[in-house]
Amino acid sequence: MSNLFPKFSRTQDNLNIVMEQRLLKQTNRLILKSETCTGCGICIEACPEEAITLGRLGGYGTGAVIDDAKVSIDAEKCSYCGVCVIMCPFNALNLKIDEEEKLPILEKEGFPEYDMVTEIDEEKCVRCTICDEICPRDAINRDVPLFEGADDQGVLRQSALTAKTEFTVDDEKCNLCGICGAVCPAIVVKHKPFSPETGVIDGKVIWNEDLCDACQVCVEACPEEAITVLRTVESKKLPGKVTIVQEDCCTCTWCSKNCPEEAITVEKIFEGDISAAVEKCPDGCDICVDVCPCNAIHMQDNGKIAINSDFCMLCGACVNACPGEDIIVLKRTGIRVKGKETDLFVKIKEKLLAPKASKVREA
Ligand code: SF4
Ligand code: SF4
Ligand code: SF4
Ligand code: SF4
Ligand code: SF4
Ligand code: SF4
Ligand code: SF4
Repeated sequence: MSNLFPKFSRTQDNLNIVMEQRLLKQTNRLILKSETCTGCGICIEACPEEAITLGRLGGYGTGAVIDDAKVSIDAEKCSYCGVCVIMCPFNALNLKIDEEEKLPILEKEGFPEYDMVTEIDEEKCVRCTICDEICPRDAINRDVPLFEGADDQGVLRQSALTAKTEFTVDDEKCNLCGICGAVCPAIVVKHKPFSPETGVIDGKVIWNEDLCDACQVCVEACPEEAITVLRTVESKKLPGKVTIVQEDCCTCTWCSKNCPEEAITVEKIFEGDISAAVEKCPDGCDICVDVCPCNAIHMQDNGKIAINSDFCMLCGACVNACPGEDIIVLKRTGIRVKGKETDLFVKIKEKLLAPKASKVREA
């Protein structure tokens, strides 16, 4: 009977690869979201049990099947400590103890976490679309109400900009001809019953602000030039809120470098340099362009790649995917973390700061 536990398994559930350890009274599960994993290899260096290895295709794997994942985790070697979960800069790992997300390393001895700076200054942000469109990790949450024009039934539009419209009719000039009411659904010209007592037309022009979009058609149509429509924009920003979803942000800085209002502050979690000896690249190779999670590499007109270090967050995915010897070289010089740097972290940091170069991999 004593041989029944622990039991181990490595299974796939869609694109999640699940490493499981079943103890008599507890089930530990480490889940790799293989589509989110970039193959950066940071977990490999972080794992204190050396339970993680680079997948067969390295950073180029897709994770469509277990053997194709970018990293392979040994369910038996793993101690289900959670260090890799904390260190993965792409939030591609989850640890569940009896279905509850937990990080035992924090309870046992503590562990620092990345000191992420990903801020949007709400005062400066005008809720444009740039950061949302530009972010390569889909980490921007743009919660801005949609502009909805009034439909046939007169359902009210949602005003996108905060604006105020003033409509005035000069009673001296207006002869209550009814033309403005005929051209615009926001205006009704009401005539009082025509009475032989006065023998003249009496009434008023009634205007509904909610239906008026300040198009000025009434102003143009009025034969007496009696109407003035004045629209003032009170706030030149859209309503709503734009935020960075920190778990999905890898600090590439695309958004902060391109925000037209300079409203975003992002600090990269790694410092250092990257270089590529592109003269050694085999013709036609663009693997690194494909795998870079930060959209930091592009193919130049001369058929050779170039790395824009402004957007590189020094993850190492390209180093792991590149099939050439010593073509890409990555040197990290610092890691931004908060919390006490424990002995285990200091060891991991040493590994992460050691220079890395691409290698020819066996097929
Ligand atoms: Fe490991 Fe990097 Fe994949 Fe995260 S993204 S699981 S650290 S290889
Ligand atoms: Fe390694 Fe701990 Fe992650 Fe398991 S949970 S793979 S032991 S770092
Ligand atoms: Fe636009 Fe900048 Fe606001 Fe993003 S943070 S919506 S880029 S103004
Ligand atoms: Fe997206 Fe990069 Fe900005 Fe993070 S830093 S929100 S990943 S664009
Ligand atoms: Fe009066 Fe001019 Fe309207 Fe005629 S179109 S009802 S004159 S405001
Ligand atoms: Fe990562 Fe930078 Fe390489 Fe892109 S260029 S894969 S961000 S190390
Ligand atoms: Fe291919 Fe490596 Fe050159 Fe990128 S750097 S094009 S992956 S050989």
